[in-house]
Amino acid sequence: MSTESRLRLIWLYPDLLSTYGDRGNLLILARRADLRGLPVECAEVRADQAVPADGDIYLIGGGEDGPQALAAQRLIADGGLRRAVDHGATVFSVCAGYQLMGNSFYAKGAKCAGLGLLDLDSDRGETRAVGELAGEVDPALGLPTLTGFENHGGRTHLGPGVRPLARVTAGIGNDGRSEGAWHGRILGTYSHGPALARNPGIADLLLRWATGMTMEPIDDRWPTRLRDERLSAVLK
Ligand code: GLN
Repeated sequence: MSTESRLRLIWLYPDLLSTYGDRGNLLILARRADLRGLPVECAEVRADQAVPADGDIYLIGGGEDGPQALAAQRLIADGGLRRAVDHGATVFSVCAGYQLMGNSFYAKGAKCAGLGLLDLDSDRGETRAVGELAGEVDPALGLPTLTGFENHGGRTHLGPGVRPLARVTAGIGNDGRSEGAWHGRILGTYSHGPALARNPGIADLLLRWATGMTMEPIDDRWPTRLRDERLSAVLK
């Protein structure tokens, strides 16, 4: 954790990549940290602002192709996120934000450079993937079933430098077989929902990565009801 033991959460580019309600991930992380008595400081960094390199957890969300391409250009030119990752920061990226963590992606028919922080490339699928998404999470992460809502045209192909976040049991995810990816402390997913509201275990994993501390259990009856309801919807 950074100076004065405050956990710094950075929500990247709310002006470009907030169309799918992924800002809820910031609220969930801050709330779950607060319930563990961890002092939290949240910063929202717009695309015309410099990305501070001293954050502990960076969050980035989904968006349409145009803003996604612009966000990638700005993040590459800025360099702050890469410096933060080099210092061991944790990153949670969703959909457009996930694609732009990779080496390349397509937006409006053009191939665009990503940040190259995750070894993956995205192209376009024949159909748009829209609907419930579920999968069994990589056992190395020790998390329960992933649940989310996806809405994307891209398909993502993982390189040897990343592990899939989950094996798809409902929906498309990366390619109909795997969903999301992770490497080190960088994690990406196609799940909206927001993802951390539907998967509080991932929120606690991010907090553990960022603090090195074990996250004591908290009252998760409401998130559990939400998860049960959404997971039962895809079993039908
Ligand atoms: N523009 C990207 C795609 O359609 C990501 C969409 C999103 O973030 N929901 O694949």
